[in-house]
Amino acid sequence: MYSYLVPAELQTAVKFGVRVEVPLRNKLYSAIIIETHEALELPYKARHIISVIDDEPIIEQYQVEFWRWLASYYCCTVGEVMNVALPSGLKLASETRIVSNETHDESTVELTDDEYLVAEAVSIQNELTINEIKDILEKKSVYPLIRSLIDKQVVSIKEELVAKYKPKKINIVQLTDYYEEDRNRLSEAFDKISRSEHQTNALLAYVSLSRGGIEVPKSSIYELAGVTGSVLNALIKKEIFTSKEKEVSRLSYDAADGELPELSSKQIEVVSDIRSYHKKEKIVLLHGVTGSGKTRVYMEIIKDTLAAGKQVLYLLPEIALTTQIVSRLKHVFGEDVVVFHSRMSNHERVELWKEAMLGRKIILGARSSLFLPFAQLGLIIVDEEHDPSFKQQDPAPRYNARDAATYLAGQLDARIILGSATPSLESFLNVQHGKYALCEMTERHGHVAMPEIELIDLKKAYKTNRVEGFFSHKLIETIKTALVNKEQILLFQNRRGYAPTVNCTICGWKSECPNCDISLTYHKFFDEIRCHYCGHRSKMPTECPACGNHDLTEKGIGTEKIESEVYKIFEDAKVARMDWDTVRTKNSYSRILESFANREVDILVGTQMITKGLDFDNIGVVGVLNADGLLQFPDFRASERSFQLLTQVAGRAGRRKKQGKVLIQTFTPEHPVLKEIINNAIERFTAREFIERQRFIYPPFYRMIHIQLKHKNPRTVEDAAKYMGLELQKTLKKRVLGPAAPGVARLKGLYLQNIIIKAEKKAQVINFAKSEIIRIKNQLSKSDGFKSVRVRLDVDPY
Ligand code: ADP
Ligand code: ZN
Ligand code: ZN
Repeated sequence: MYSYLVPAELQTAVKFGVRVEVPLRNKLYSAIIIETHEALELPYKARHIISVIDDEPIIEQYQVEFWRWLASYYCCTVGEVMNVALPSGLKLASETRIVSNETHDESTVELTDDEYLVAEAVSIQNELTINEIKDILEKKSVYPLIRSLIDKQVVSIKEELVAKYKPKKINIVQLTDYYEEDRNRLSEAFDKISRSEHQTNALLAYVSLSRGGIEVPKSSIYELAGVTGSVLNALIKKEIFTSKEKEVSRLSYDAADGELPELSSKQIEVVSDIRSYHKKEKIVLLHGVTGSGKTRVYMEIIKDTLAAGKQVLYLLPEIALTTQIVSRLKHVFGEDVVVFHSRMSNHERVELWKEAMLGRKIILGARSSLFLPFAQLGLIIVDEEHDPSFKQQDPAPRYNARDAATYLAGQLDARIILGSATPSLESFLNVQHGKYALCEMTERHGHVAMPEIELIDLKKAYKTNRVEGFFSHKLIETIKTALVNKEQILLFQNRRGYAPTVNCTICGWKSECPNCDISLTYHKFFDEIRCHYCGHRSKMPTECPACGNHDLTEKGIGTEKIESEVYKIFEDAKVARMDWDTVRTKNSYSRILESFANREVDILVGTQMITKGLDFDNIGVVGVLNADGLLQFPDFRASERSFQLLTQVAGRAGRRKKQGKVLIQTFTPEHPVLKEIINNAIERFTAREFIERQRFIYPPFYRMIHIQLKHKNPRTVEDAAKYMGLELQKTLKKRVLGPAAPGVARLKGLYLQNIIIKAEKKAQVINFAKSEIIRIKNQLSKSDGFKSVRVRLDVDPY
């Protein structure tokens, strides 16, 4: 935060929340006015504000305090918070690139001379930086002009290359006006085409299909009349049909009338409990097993909130945003619902930002929608509250949206529901301590049975030779039966790619990333070996780079390999794969989901992506290829993650009609977590895990702060970490662990050292620890030897 002088002519325009143009060092930036005051003594010579960009505030008053809280809680600067909080469409800096807006219609906007000049220049040059625009106009101050051009939709801010969300379109036909006006005239049309049996069939099909409306998808006519596109084209040529493209919702919901279904008696009970807890301003944790009908409960509380004239923020993991939940809510609340997702353009983000300020009713979004300016927030729902994706990893602020949401709700006097089938241990402990109120739904809606979960002992299976590839005979038989019954199958493997490592059988050479201490994963489709940390990739070698041997073996299993085995074992099945590779290359998360929903896919292989938000009524079998990788992951949360992930993936089975079957393959069937998963014993799991966490001084009983130092020179980073560790120990004593090199000691060419702080959950201790960490971090950044060491602070790592 900086202070500037306000020139006399800008006195009235400068007020809270408007953007202004200011000089900083030798550049110009846009900044937001947070406070105005008179005659303040400053330790430095303040410079003047150059211009005012907005007429009205672009942020709400409460946001500044929220940003300050986030910065102080998560040990970063307010600037860093603002950087993620504000959509880039609202940030202007000298290097910002301005591009022409192709969709704008020149004839409809009036431009000033200067605006015209800039619009012309941008359209000729394709893109210009703000600095270049200054040169063109020979003016120092151009931000207000650029904002005006953006408002008039003549130009926009250049975006990073993101795949844009494309609405799904279908081709439809309808009758031309002549026939539509008077359907009796159709006899003329039938006469006209009487010589062609195909055309007659197509028109007949149209007539019978168009009863519900006048538009009929081409595909339905193809199907019913057994004709091809050329037949329809002929009818279009004869001016009987016209055709056009139409946008349709990608996913549909069963209750098609837009009415809310009646609450079940259990839901009535839970809704009434939530209402009374909310009256007492309690945070509610809604623990409901998969399929218990939590969404319907949320909807009821949403209705309450809307009736009170307030807004709703509905937070979800990003990946779940594309699935049924969006259409379910839209179906009921219609126009009141908007979705804030990562595939939105800058323009759309700014639009949504403004709508939130105007009081848009229901906003559905991933973690960053927490930063929208809510005019009157009444309710926050954090669905799948246990999900790790609520925690931002990089860049700072490394906030947890669930935790920040509880702060925000307190700040705005809004109510909050955290919901999950597998709540986090953090939330369960808060229930034990009386901070949260617990509501439970232990049965599925409509008496649908919970899936039957069974473990398959891979050790035994291999010993008795009852395996084919990575599939035990038992899993194969179960899948085959499901295929015969026309049920669908989900196969879960939490690694993408074909094989996690490639080895030489003679000299022991391993495929390793040149930048990271980690092996390169073989991706068969691309015939490449790739690093999942830094993105490095190279061609799959045909011979060992070390000894020239041609016999290289792939070790371990990824989704791609599972997919190829599925093709081999289940020859007639239709197979699809969903992981970052397939979603990236084909931009087709929704397409895969859609074809699965339409039953064009029998077996879907995927990473944890398939565990979120899938709600299909025909999944007979869920198979987990190997649970051991999850359980053995070197992290104190490995058990919790495994419990959550496997319970969630199992929960996809048999949702509506009948009991589903879940088979989990493992080499360690005696593992207590697996036992708890198959018995759906979340209480037992929680109690046991609580004891472990307490004994080994871990969250949620203690606070953790993770300090990571990085440098390209291993000695430098080691010395810096040693120094920092010793300094911290002087005051924080035994709360300091390390420094130590992490399991993957080098990433993206930088060597790493970790220091971990474990502190009692006392505000005093934690605040002191944070201030010590920041003090010593600042010392490091000023010392000659360690200036270039990067220090990453992560409060409550997740
Ligand atoms: P959860 O979010 O707890 O996993 P859902 O809200 O998806 O559960 O509900 C599971 C299924 O039960 C869905 O198919 C949903 O349509 C159905 N359902 C839930 N509540 C009702 C209700 N009151 N009436 C009819 N169907 C319901
Ligand atoms: Zn070799
Ligand atoms: Zn790498």
